[in-house]
Order: sequence, then C-alpha cells, then structure tokens
Amino acid sequence: MNMKTKNEKMNNKTFPTRFMLFMATCALVLGSCTEDAVEPEAETSVRPKAEVEAQQESQFVTKYFLGDAVKVELEEDGTYSLAGTDIRLFEDQLSDSPDAYDPNPVPGEELSGLAQHGSIRKWPDNTVYYVINGLSSSVRSELQKSFDEWTSKTNVRFKERTNQSNYVTISSSGSNSNSGVATLGMYGSSGYIKLGTRATAVVIIHELGHTLGYIHEQNRADRDDHIIINIENIQPDAVDQFYKNTSAIYLTSDFDINSTMMYGSYTFSKNGQPTITDLNGNILPQRQASLSPLDIEGTNVAYPSTDGGGSPEPGADLCDTAEEFSSNKAYSVGDYVTYYGRLYQRDYTRWNYIKTCN
Ligand SMILES: [Zn+2]
Repeated sequence: MNMKTKNEKMNNKTFPTRFMLFMATCALVLGSCTEDAVEPEAETSVRPKAEVEAQQESQFVTKYFLGDAVKVELEEDGTYSLAGTDIRLFEDQLSDSPDAYDPNPVPGEELSGLAQHGSIRKWPDNTVYYVINGLSSSVRSELQKSFDEWTSKTNVRFKERTNQSNYVTISSSGSNSNSGVATLGMYGSSGYIKLGTRATAVVIIHELGHTLGYIHEQNRADRDDHIIINIENIQPDAVDQFYKNTSAIYLTSDFDINSTMMYGSYTFSKNGQPTITDLNGNILPQRQASLSPLDIEGTNVAYPSTDGGGSPEPGADLCDTAEEFSSNKAYSVGDYVTYYGRLYQRDYTRWNYIKTCN
C-alpha cells in the first residue's frame, strides 16, 4: 500500500496503494495488499489521473537494497520510496554499490562500521514502541485491532513510548483512502507509519509488518515457483517493484500467497487484468485482516520468545546453549551465537550484541 506523500498535493486525492511486501516468512520481507469487501483493492486499483501526471515527474534513481539494484524516489520527507511501493527507506538503508551489502556478516562488524549500509533492524525484546499522532477514533480503533492481531498470535508486543530512543510514530497521511506507508524495521526516532483516513486493519496489519522489518512476499527470489507475474498488465512505472530480492533472509521456507505481506492480484494493474495469479492463472485470495499461519511462524522465528538475551527457562543461559559462530554456516534472523566470549543475536542484516558471557 503505498501512496505518495507529497504534502501539498495530497489533499483531495486518492492515492493508489502500491504495496509491496513480502514476508513470508520471509525474509525480511512480507507483503500484501489491502482489499476489503466494500472496495476491493481500494488502494491498489486505478490510479487517479493527477497521480499519473505526478508520477511522470517522478525521478527514479537506481540504488542497491540488500545487494539488489532497485529504483527509488526521494520523497519530500527525505526518505526513499522503493519503486513506488508503500515502503519508505532511509538513505543509509540503501547504498550506491552492490558491494556495500554483506549477506554473511561477522559478529562485531557493526562496531567497525562495515555493516552500516543496508542495515535493517529488528526490535529488541520483541517490543515495538510507538507514538500516536493525530489519528481519528475510527483509524485508532482499526490500529488497536491490528495490534491485537499481532500480539495475540505472535511474540511481538506494542507499547506506547515513554522515554525509549527507538520508536515509530503513527500518524495520518491526510489521504482519503484505505492505504498506508511505513518505514522498514526499527530506525531510532525517525521510523513512521502514515495511514489514510479510511485505513482498515487489512492495511494496518500489513504496515506493521514493515515496521517489524518485513518486505513484500512477491519479491522472494523463489516466487516464480508459486505465482505468475503478468508484466504486460503492470503499470509501466511499477514494473521495477516486482523485482526479485536475492539476498533477503527468509523467515519461512515456503512461499505464502496468504501472507499479509503479499500483493493482491490486481495491485498496480494498468488495464484491469491481474498482475499476479497462481500458477494455474487463478486470482489470488483477497488479503484479510489477519495473519496467515506462515506469517505467525515466520514472525516467531524473527522474534523468538527468548529475544533479548532472556533465558529459555529459569536457570538456563544462552551463553551456555548458543553455538560458537561459524563463517561456514547460514544463519536465520533470531539465531543466537557466541563469538569471542560474547553473545550475539542475528538481526536481518547484522548481528546484535546481547551481552558478554562469563
Ligand atoms: Zn507494503
């Protein structure tokens, strides 16, 4: 779900949503679109003429995201939109060279500055801190439903910020639509979610997935084994966002067309024909205001119940149970290792220091 956030142009316009997400258990990736019964794919359907004109003025530039070339556009708030999707990236989450991203980082590298570019961070202690700024009571109600969906089924928790330095600000985009945009992962005090005035839980659950660090499911490199992308039906300037991400860490082994991070069949259609179908050419199920079983499984991989260095059981210590880091082994988000007497947990793009082992 994505919409442009050009401030002064935004009133009176309905912005299309372009989403992108993929999770899937995904890797850092999760995604889906929002469609509801009243307005199927409200935010992803036909683009208003004004939007198309504005898009023609857009300046896409090529950057590297997780090692893959992507087209991005500089937004007025200083973030970059990933080829017209609802994901907003900060400059240092992108790089000018594919070499700046290391898919197999070594614990402690972040201290040397080697792992700065392309960094996507998960939330410590499974807890997302938030500040709400000016949402209507109806959107606030949908937001609460969305929090409840995540917290009732996964280890993730949402707490109102008191004095935490890392938090996400949730506010209105001013767009009269069921849509949203979100920054990716934890990013100091700068992360945000901006919601349209008619945003429902279908959209908000998806945007919270981006906050947790997930990208869109259809960007998985193995997606062609599960879905068909009909390039000929995609709006020309949206084609680039259907790229395959080769470096994202998958949180689940299976592709998930039911993921909240999965696009709908008509997302970014230019002609009313489906942009995505299953391998038999059938339309995908509409995204619901709920997490899929694999969304839940993948989230509990990225955010395991022992997150933050806590003990899996009273008396146990992860320093005793975690294996020594090996450069020959592939790691998943949420894994713990020890390295030179220190305990680390794998983040999406780096290792996070947890504590020194005795
Ligand atoms: Zn999205």
